[in-house]
Amino acid sequence: MKLPIYLDHSATTPMDPKVLDVMLPYFLENFGNASSSAHVYGWLAEEAVEIAREQVAALIGARSDEIVFTSGATESVNLAIKGFFETQVKKGGHIITSKTEHRAVLDTCAWVEANGGSVTYMDVTPDGLVDLQKLENEITDKTKMIAIMYANNETGVVQPVKEISLIADKYKVTFFTDATQAVGKIPVDVKADGIDMLAMTAHKLYGPKGVGALYVKKKEPKIQIEAQMLGGRHEKNRRSGTLNVPGIAGFGSACDIAAASIQDQKITILRNKLENALMAIPGSVVNGAHTSRLPHITNISFQDVEGESLLIEFCREVAVSRGSACSSVTNRPSHVLTAMGITDELALSSFRMSLGRFTTDNDIEQAISHITSCVERHQQNLKLR
Ligand SMILES: *Cc1c(COP(=O)(O)O)cnc(C)c1O
Repeated sequence: MKLPIYLDHSATTPMDPKVLDVMLPYFLENFGNASSSAHVYGWLAEEAVEIAREQVAALIGARSDEIVFTSGATESVNLAIKGFFETQVKKGGHIITSKTEHRAVLDTCAWVEANGGSVTYMDVTPDGLVDLQKLENEITDKTKMIAIMYANNETGVVQPVKEISLIADKYKVTFFTDATQAVGKIPVDVKADGIDMLAMTAHKLYGPKGVGALYVKKKEPKIQIEAQMLGGRHEKNRRSGTLNVPGIAGFGSACDIAAASIQDQKITILRNKLENALMAIPGSVVNGAHTSRLPHITNISFQDVEGESLLIEFCREVAVSRGSACSSVTNRPSHVLTAMGITDELALSSFRMSLGRFTTDNDIEQAISHITSCVERHQQNLKLR
């Protein structure tokens, strides 16, 4: 079977073969438990974990002792928000987030509300941005945390993170950001950006699935987070459970490779080529076009088409998605696009295409030709009806 061209790198990326090479020994000869301190099996595993911790930290400008390894960004988000909230709940905490966050953040915020906290879900501008003045206006003396993502997983829209951190700082509020899509794609520097906590995951940057990290800034006063996994007190008692040594080693290697290739313009050039070609189809609109976006994502609304049947036709030749991987199983319009003021109908005929490190010029040419002919045929059929 000839597989379709993969343009869904925001859902997950293939592993870089170099990452797999780094991981393999930790499944086989170096299989030790990183907590086994009495013998060389443990020492070798621990050494791999600590090298990876340095590599992950380096990619985001953190210190290695600020990195907590988890099972992925969802767990990191849960640990950041629930773990932080549990230490603040008795004081009646308030969290400010946005309507365009990933479900991991939205559902965890819903948990906060169900557990005695309050949450403000900020609207965004038509370009998907949080309004800084409105954000500042929402802060009360109960506000403990601002949780705003670094860059959106459906549109690639990058939030004004530095400015948000300055507001958080001014009111002594903790700033947490879900940077899962941004890390490894654009330069992220937790110190320069003023970030207190940051969630990331390996499988969106050519590493393995099932491993991620939470950055927790070391500062005074200390950011208190309650562990969500209890047990062997791993990760300085912030996340118990035997460390996924091969996964962590792969994560570190993936971060190293990402750091070395982050300035490469190839993906941006291909994304722009795809976008410009599809914009030639009458009525198409790029969502979030007028602001800074990640280099690998484009989200396009097509007019006068029926989204569901279009998706079925696309998938024979190109793997794209409507909304995020988590919401594409449902048939609901994307909450991200509707928050940007797009109608339900248009949201259902909007598609996210996300490119990756191994996407070729030939892939993009084929994708352009297939998508264009599908959309144009659909538009014509609708006119004939
Ligand atoms: C993929 C993604 C997540 C979830 O990451 P997992 O590692 O799969 O749990 C969270 N937030 C954003 C923005 C994402 O893109």
